[in-house]
Amino acid sequence: MRKPQSETTPRPLRHAVRMGLANALMVPLLVALTAVVLTGCSRGTPQAGGAGSQGDAAPAVVQANAAVAQSLKLDDPQDFEDAKRGFIARPSGKILAADGTVLKDFDAYGFLQGKGPDTVNPSLWRHAQLNAEVGLFKVVDGVYQLRGFDIANMTLIEGKTGWIVVDPLSAQESAAHALDFARKHLGNKPVSALVFTHAHVDHFGGAIVVLSAKEAAERRVPIIVSAGFMEEATSENILVGAGMGRRSMYQFGKNLPRDARGNVDTGLGKDVVYGAIGVLRPTGLVDQPTQPMTLDGVRFVFHNTPGAECPAEMTFHLPDHKLYNGAELLSQTMHNLLPIRSAKVRDALGWANSLQQALDQMDGVDTYIGQHNQPIWGNARIRAFITVHRDIYKYTHDQTVRLMNQGYTAREIADLVKLPASLSQHLGARGYYGDLRHNVKAVYQYYLGFYDANPAHLDPLPPAESGKRYVALIGADKALAAAQTAYDQGDYRWAAELLNHLVMADAKNQAAREQLAKTYEQMGYRSEAATWRNSYLTGAMELRQGPPDKGISKAQAIGMLQQVPTERFLEAMAGSLNGPDAEGKNLKINLVLSDANERYVLWLENAVMHFKAAPPAPDANATLTLTRDILVKMIAGTAGAKDTLLSDDLRVTGSRLDLVRFFSLIDKAPGTFPIVTR
Ligand SMILES: [Zn+2]
Repeated sequence: MRKPQSETTPRPLRHAVRMGLANALMVPLLVALTAVVLTGCSRGTPQAGGAGSQGDAAPAVVQANAAVAQSLKLDDPQDFEDAKRGFIARPSGKILAADGTVLKDFDAYGFLQGKGPDTVNPSLWRHAQLNAEVGLFKVVDGVYQLRGFDIANMTLIEGKTGWIVVDPLSAQESAAHALDFARKHLGNKPVSALVFTHAHVDHFGGAIVVLSAKEAAERRVPIIVSAGFMEEATSENILVGAGMGRRSMYQFGKNLPRDARGNVDTGLGKDVVYGAIGVLRPTGLVDQPTQPMTLDGVRFVFHNTPGAECPAEMTFHLPDHKLYNGAELLSQTMHNLLPIRSAKVRDALGWANSLQQALDQMDGVDTYIGQHNQPIWGNARIRAFITVHRDIYKYTHDQTVRLMNQGYTAREIADLVKLPASLSQHLGARGYYGDLRHNVKAVYQYYLGFYDANPAHLDPLPPAESGKRYVALIGADKALAAAQTAYDQGDYRWAAELLNHLVMADAKNQAAREQLAKTYEQMGYRSEAATWRNSYLTGAMELRQGPPDKGISKAQAIGMLQQVPTERFLEAMAGSLNGPDAEGKNLKINLVLSDANERYVLWLENAVMHFKAAPPAPDANATLTLTRDILVKMIAGTAGAKDTLLSDDLRVTGSRLDLVRFFSLIDKAPGTFPIVTR
């Protein structure tokens, strides 16, 4: 039995403990949380264009980009006609946060005019131009889309009494701006139903400004999702949020300038509005494979399609409008089976099967819309579009499996698999967001994991250690010269491999860093995938400037963190316990959430943090009692001393010193770690 120790703690130590408690509680309490904001597509902050040390496109890149332009029918006007069809009005100016921060600049991508420069893959340039067709559009009678207000589309369907809103964007600021814009041009009607097509944040983050929780309850507004939505929306990636959030800065080119040598697109749309996010509790669930439902007088037929693009996702038909909404199972780009920001790997075969089902449901459909990119009109074109997407995932899957079974490894298969022309020529399924080579590796990982069965790779040296040995063997100058030769020959993959060894061996080798930055730049300029381009160019930027000072803020996610089950926070906390420091420590803490009627016992055992829902343990070192509201503020990093030490809603009994000891074992993860150096 442990005795409460606070009484016996000497005064100076008590002061230190008090301050330690503040630090221990306010900062690292639940540190692994970021990617509630990142589970879907992206978050980004618009940057002023122009700055940076970006160079010109090298001759090899000019040549490669010219070859791309030759090989594809980039002057086909049909997609541009679709992207402009039904145009009503275009927004201009900026979307601002409450504190005046610019969240979205509608003019930032104004440079995407005419023929592309050498520094952008021409196929990506065209795609970036399509995504720059921003505005309010009438799709068919009674169906409208707001495109380019955020990375995703907001779809409005006219009901008997108001608007049925499909996917209220990433943030409250962009959702409010888009809906106001629509009301200005289409008339002021209430929101009569909400549909979230899936559990990625760019499809629901702005919900609570489209409809307040109070209004939803009072007017009994239907909020429709597919099975598993709430769990996925509030839980996906909480555990690895800090790591994934940091990696996402690469995928989305968050900190790059918006210009022809920087961020031109994200593949699924323009940059994301990094504003305040929240979610509303659903009132209706789609849990059958096909489920008809009438919302505000409009007939819907929902199709549940879990486990493809998102663990919880659905598409739908509007039979009276002859319209099919493919949610994000279908966009005007090859999607990814494994985002380069990281995620759990997706099932290519399941995705292809969902698209086969979509094809089987296409009778009588004249219009396709998705929740990203532009629509398609005409049954034959829609069928061709779905068929190509189905077969890209199926081909990628089947050919990877075939070569896997012949003993080829992921890196080899990625170089071997090429799409047949009937698939690769379809511009609406090129790799602008996903990438074939990365998807091949994802299929390999899905079935066989990351290990290729070669014992040389069972226990390889970490990057800095092998880098040092390569440099010792070759000599830094000789390696740098060889990399320069490779660069001059346009052999950028080899140049990057050599230079990466040099930089990993010695982050102070400025010549190697600059040469690697130049190499990444060329790789970015020739990339067709916006995500690859953003990664290479962010890598180049960070080789020159170092990693960012700030990670992605959790403060704006409070509206969503409030919905996250406490167990997810505790799992993340256990995942942040510093194991070596915790070795031999034996502490037990009661956690009481006074307003939520939740009680947990947390304890250390074998340098592992465990927890269980249980009444306070009498032998605990300390009991921390607080409200769930304060807990969420701590997680979001917005709790001040007033909320913690000075609040009546937070009490500590037992040993404060032990409480500090316990929470001091939780590592911080600010999400600013270096990636291209060690
Ligand atoms: Zn999305």
